[in-house]
Amino acid sequence: MTTAGARLRDSWERRIERAEQLAAQDEATRPLLVFYGKLLGLQRDTYDTLRTAQLSGSLERDLDVVRPRASAILSAVSTIGPALLADQIQEIASAGDPAIDRLLLEWWRTLAANQFFPKVILQPYAQRLAELSQRPVDRELYTNEYRCPFCAGPPQLSILQGGGELEGGGRALLCATCFTTWPFRRVRCASCGEEDEHRLAYFHSPALDHLRVDACETCRGYVKTIDLTRLGIAVPLVDEVAGAPLDVWARERGYEKIELNLVGL
Ligand SMILES: [Zn+2]
Ligand SMILES: [Zn+2]
Repeated sequence: MTTAGARLRDSWERRIERAEQLAAQDEATRPLLVFYGKLLGLQRDTYDTLRTAQLSGSLERDLDVVRPRASAILSAVSTIGPALLADQIQEIASAGDPAIDRLLLEWWRTLAANQFFPKVILQPYAQRLAELSQRPVDRELYTNEYRCPFCAGPPQLSILQGGGELEGGGRALLCATCFTTWPFRRVRCASCGEEDEHRLAYFHSPALDHLRVDACETCRGYVKTIDLTRLGIAVPLVDEVAGAPLDVWARERGYEKIELNLVGL
């Protein structure tokens, strides 16, 4: 019998395998995928630690479990990551545990966009809370249709999965913090809610057939969409990273991503 925990553990494994697979396929994005694969390995180890722990949903109370993993991730990233990150780690590490706690708690309460360390460390924590239906209790959860219904996080990406008759017409957003998905209308900006199709643009490259950029002329925001009806074996989080050329393309045209991924794109 497969327990839910084992299945979800598999999903970290699937992400790691997919990163290896995609790294082997494309030389240009290989360094990003190799780095991301290593981050996923650290996150899987964190998830495994948390899976056997008693979590309260209050990060402040759960810090004793999370902090050792934060230290492990920081020291691992200082050897596998770019020099810029190593400098930041040096700064955090020299300030000791209180600085790590502060970094984690501040981000957890605000989910401020585009923060690297707290996001790497707390994604497995947030995923575990979501599996346990243990809602975060020590912060305000302002949710609306653009934010995750579980943790109020912004979307990392959008997914098309067929089933046009479903709510959202087969489109869903995936939370950048806890990986919960929620239905979202197909023709709608995931940042400002624009629904005028003349203000919404889709960009697609033949080299990345199952990926596209969904951009909005009203707010100039964008999100990448992974079309699982075109490539069912895709793993959205990882394939999104492999679509780095589309981020470069969008940025050159002045669009701003709703939430950067862990490789900073
Ligand atoms: Zn979430
Ligand atoms: Zn918009």
